Amino acid sequence: MAPILKTLNFDNRFLNDLPADSDLSNSRRQVHNACYSFVEPAKVSAPSLVSFSKEAAALLDLSADDINSDEFLKAFSGNQMLEGTKPYAMCYGGHQFGNWAGQLGDGRAINLGEVVNAQGDYWAVQLKGAGPTPYSRTADGLAVLRSSVREYLCSEAMFHLGVPTTRALSLINTGEEVMRDILYNGNAAYEPGTVVCRLSPSFVRFGSFQIFSSRNEHDELKQLADATIAHHFSELLDAHEVGSKELYLAWFNEVCQRTMTMVVEWMRVGFVHGVMNTDNMSILGLTIDYGPYGWLDDFNPEWTPNTTDSQNRRYRYGQQANVALWNCFQLANSLYPLIGETDGLERTLEDLQSSYQTQWLEMMSKKLGFKSVENGDQALFERLEALLAKVETDMTIFYRCLAGDDLSLASFSDAYYQDKHDQDYSLAMNRWLDDYANRRAKEAIEPGARIKAMNSVNPLYVFRNYLAQLAIDKAEAGDHSMVNELLNVFRNPYEQQEGMEAYALKRPEWARSKVGCSMLSCSS
Ligand code: AMP
Ligand code: MG
Repeated sequence: MAPILKTLNFDNRFLNDLPADSDLSNSRRQVHNACYSFVEPAKVSAPSLVSFSKEAAALLDLSADDINSDEFLKAFSGNQMLEGTKPYAMCYGGHQFGNWAGQLGDGRAINLGEVVNAQGDYWAVQLKGAGPTPYSRTADGLAVLRSSVREYLCSEAMFHLGVPTTRALSLINTGEEVMRDILYNGNAAYEPGTVVCRLSPSFVRFGSFQIFSSRNEHDELKQLADATIAHHFSELLDAHEVGSKELYLAWFNEVCQRTMTMVVEWMRVGFVHGVMNTDNMSILGLTIDYGPYGWLDDFNPEWTPNTTDSQNRRYRYGQQANVALWNCFQLANSLYPLIGETDGLERTLEDLQSSYQTQWLEMMSKKLGFKSVENGDQALFERLEALLAKVETDMTIFYRCLAGDDLSLASFSDAYYQDKHDQDYSLAMNRWLDDYANRRAKEAIEPGARIKAMNSVNPLYVFRNYLAQLAIDKAEAGDHSMVNELLNVFRNPYEQQEGMEAYALKRPEWARSKVGCSMLSCSS
């Protein structure tokens, strides 16, 4: 391996501190009493770099030259093992759409290990789409360009938006063809195979704990909890004894708080995860596993991007906080054996709803340009959301218009998906705008400062579903320019960028009911 990649300093704490599967075969099976199984990525025929994130590269102290090297391509496509790595797939379970699904695990993600960067930060490095593992069940262990572009760009867009998220370093086409039936309707076709390199301080999920408690593997449950706390929540050890009930409760509380904070941030930017199963919930409260997610164009709390969820809409925008709570409840169940009593866990869960509500009010007050939440604000926010949902209103554009001085209905015309409003709506919206103007006047903030503050929480550029599809269509035809252009635009999502105006426009009519733009399946 070339010297540049030799400088990657691996310290594989997860491997070293936690139990491994003793079976070294790469056969599909139930894995007991282990946090992970050793498995090497599949070799690929013709790897080529599609794109990389320089900000993510900096987390590993890698330069653009490093990434553009042949060594990088070999190592991050899975074709050659880096020194200091012993690749592994993680074992976890999960509730899928409300039902316990048993063992899931990394079916197509293979971890290279944990890199310690110059600052001493740990970054777990994972290749998604790198071939079958013991957890692949009936699937192929691969990922296609379409879903990989979506994961790669959205991870980085979310980071720049200030939303807690895992990161994406690189997008590498493998040269393989992968068969997928996008709508599960018997129309399978070949798509380009791709490997995304993801980075996160940890890829441990709620389901990583659930699998142990579901099997009464309490020793492993404790080992995983203790290692997770030691590696990622060590500040809690200042106040609490290792292995104590108080420590586990403080940790559970912290995980729950972070989870709700993440959801508040999703609500702020109009992100719908789409598949909030407990195996897709990071123990660090990071957005993880970008699959059939979507962004609200018109503000509709009932909307879910996931076609698999179209019947019950369990994971719709307006339901995300409740689902997060439900998931925290499942995590509490799985941690119960460590604590042996329910009181403390229940207290956290009971407080969580109001803690979310408080954070949501604060978030909304920032979106509306207020310094703090006052009496009556909640009703003002709720009236606004009801109005936004009443006629098709582009959420992103609406909040950018709201920062302006002119609060006449006409000044919001760019945000509406139709030209005319009925009288009832116009009356109600005008009344709301009057009330808002009065409330805003009380803040006595100088207009320039207000606009700046509002524009720093209300993004101009979000990863609209149709933009993803346009970038994918081009990338599949071999043109990676739009992937890279979007990556660049999303570096400054709150700032107007010259020549990039088209990326801030509302969804065009053709995208209203197009696959990939308004409907997404789990096929990836
Ligand atoms: P998801 O809901 O996409 O996060 O995936 C749920 C489970 O299915 C996880 O255990 C994944 O690793 C697994 N999975 C998804 N797609 C594949 C695939 N193509 N090959 C193997 N496992 C997969
Ligand atoms: Mg997943």
